[in-house]
Amino acid sequence: IKVAVLFERRAHEKRVAMVPAVADKLAKLGCSISMLTGAGLGSMLPDSAYTSVEIAATEQHLLADADIVLAVQAPTEAEINLLRPGTLLLSFIYPHKEPALTRLLRDKQITCFAMEQVPRISRAQAMDALSSQAALAGYYAALMGATKLARILPMMTTAVGSIRPARCLVMGLGVAGLQALATARRLGAITEGYDVRPETKEQAESLGAKFVDTGVDARGEGGYARELTPEEKDNIAAVVTKHIQQADIVITTAAIPGRPSPKLISKAQVDGMKLGAVIIDLAAEGGGNCEYSVPGETIQQGQITIAAPLNVPSMLAEHASELYAKNLLNLLQLCINDGAITLNWDDEVLAKTVLTHAGRIMPEQIKAALD
Ligand code: NAD
Repeated sequence: IKVAVLFERRAHEKRVAMVPAVADKLAKLGCSISMLTGAGLGSMLPDSAYTSVEIAATEQHLLADADIVLAVQAPTEAEINLLRPGTLLLSFIYPHKEPALTRLLRDKQITCFAMEQVPRISRAQAMDALSSQAALAGYYAALMGATKLARILPMMTTAVGSIRPARCLVMGLGVAGLQALATARRLGAITEGYDVRPETKEQAESLGAKFVDTGVDARGEGGYARELTPEEKDNIAAVVTKHIQQADIVITTAAIPGRPSPKLISKAQVDGMKLGAVIIDLAAEGGGNCEYSVPGETIQQGQITIAAPLNVPSMLAEHASELYAKNLLNLLQLCINDGAITLNWDDEVLAKTVLTHAGRIMPEQIKAALD
């Protein structure tokens, strides 16, 4: 089985879909793996680290006879055009943002598994790339918040008196939010968390955080949240505003699948924040959780700093690539048996993750929107 690993060409993408340890394991499954020179450098991995990987001379050589193609970001049109029909592709795609590419994958008869579609069931946890990347982003958000403050996070007793600890509020307690809470707490902050799924109360408390209870229950499908009604938004604002305005750091991570990020912090709420406070908006990819957020930028609104970084996992490329490559390996293990590719469509993980196969867009909703 020939496995090709793409050179990530998109701007600001430092991750790579293969690390040496995963290449060794794939080789044992009967795969021969190729990459282009320098593909791992953004993740601190020189060609020489990949002892089980062959370096292909050109993109043409890399892709023309590949059976499986691995990538972080969706491949380019040119790359897809080099693939043979029936090639297996594993990558993040986000078809709503890439309608033309998705149609091309369909027309080229690529069997594409879109990593953002891995179902959130226990058995698929080890393949869940959204979670592995979100955990890193949550950790980093707490650090970004800490370094943008003109104060320290922990309580400190000095000869001239004690310093009170900073307060950190995390809004949206999914994978990223919980990791942000844990990190801020380790740095010594007083932490508070808030979410619209009530089960997050216990999760926040187990990390030493206080849960801001708004009484709203907006559990949606598949463990995700649903959109809020205007009444619910008002009820929440009445409770949450005080906590936003007491915080030194606010980290927001709220997302609703397939929808723009919900606005959790209004301009008026920002204007009432403490001088020097910082907002780290991890939902920038979907437009951001704060009304002032400019995706990809850090802005000053008076004395308040609002950062809405894009692709935070790429800033931690070394570990992000390691976890992502392991997610891919675990999914590939479902597809490779006795040295051959076999796809069992009765397997829920494969059936839910597949985006295009045999000239069709497979998920009904996406098919209806793009066909
Ligand atoms: P996400 O990125 O979709 O959203 C982040 C958080 O924002 C969620 O907790 C969501 O409830 C919250 N949110 C949405 N709208 C909000 C609003 N208006 N106000 C406040 N918060 C709001 O979430 P995620 O990190 O992908 O995780 C979602 C769920 O899936 C969690 O329950 C997680 O435990 C679960 N999960 C399960 C598995 C698995 O079983 N394999 C894997 C990963 C995640």
